[in-house]
Amino acid sequence: MEDKTFQRIKELTELQGTSGFEQDIRAYMRKEITPLVDEVQQDGLGGIFGIRQHEEADAPRVMVAAHMDEVGFMVTQITDRGLFKITPLGGWNPYVVSAQRFTLKTMKGDYPCISSSIPPHLLRGTAGQKSLEVTDILFDAGFESREEAEAFGVRPGDTIVPQVETIKTANGKNIISKAWDNRYGCTVVLEALEALKNEKLGHTLIAGANVQEEVGLRGTKGAVNKFKPDLFFAVDCSAADDTVTKNGTFGHLGEGTLMRIYDPGLIMLPRLKEYLLDTAETNNIPYQYFVSKGGTDAGAAHTANEGIPSTVIGVVGRYIHTHQTMFSIADYDAAREMLIQTLRGLDRSTVQTIIEGK
Ligand SMILES: [Zn+2]
Repeated sequence: MEDKTFQRIKELTELQGTSGFEQDIRAYMRKEITPLVDEVQQDGLGGIFGIRQHEEADAPRVMVAAHMDEVGFMVTQITDRGLFKITPLGGWNPYVVSAQRFTLKTMKGDYPCISSSIPPHLLRGTAGQKSLEVTDILFDAGFESREEAEAFGVRPGDTIVPQVETIKTANGKNIISKAWDNRYGCTVVLEALEALKNEKLGHTLIAGANVQEEVGLRGTKGAVNKFKPDLFFAVDCSAADDTVTKNGTFGHLGEGTLMRIYDPGLIMLPRLKEYLLDTAETNNIPYQYFVSKGGTDAGAAHTANEGIPSTVIGVVGRYIHTHQTMFSIADYDAAREMLIQTLRGLDRSTVQTIIEGK
């Protein structure tokens, strides 16, 4: 991996923005996309996309969408003791929330904040900790009282986002960060646009990132209505399941990009599958079949407008939706190559074949 790519991954994964509060990531994407496209447009909820216009106005329209948001929390109440009750934004396993470092984002500034936990000392003589709900966990920024928190600008509706430094593992093969779901998508969109900058494409390309994916694929609906793509590719990160055994599980680190044949919200269309398999085989791109228990923006896109053939060009990460995700550099390289080659091959007749099955 080039230093430039690692630097970009570090910047994007260390940026903080949960669902509905993607402004810092949007600003970064706007700055990076602008020199690579003819025009940048934003949808009403804040999704941002660069457009590379084909010279023929009726050329097929291909959309590639990451999502900018990461899982986080929203302050719902400030307690008398100056701590915060929260509601999760996106899916959290309650057992990974406690005892972590976060940033509390308020109108007066960003503050360090931690999630509460119970020391073993205080569990002695009790039956142990009862089953845990995310909303039972208080967040603590060290304020002495509600009044003090309010004086620092804290209000219900403020967000709390994981704070983590992005680093490489000892063998140099993997990266540890937060939010690879889905700053992977943001990174790969920028690098594909860069790689294709001086090439003529057979379609009008609309590439960027949605908002509010983690709270139910909300951003993509407005975006596909605005940009009216003929084909839609989500670029997203899914959960690896390979730490105990690889037998009978999906999503193995280091085994390439994902051929996502099924998830609860999307069945890969046979023509898209044929096209992607052919693209991977022709270009020697490592890939693995993937069946997911979760959905992506492709699930929302394919039932939008008049029905948009959609799929995902993805990667896996271990321990996603936490502070510490581990992912493979080789997998990222495979996915980037897959996206670039997929876009290179999409001209009028290929898109027509995928849509009409001829
Ligand atoms: Zn996610």
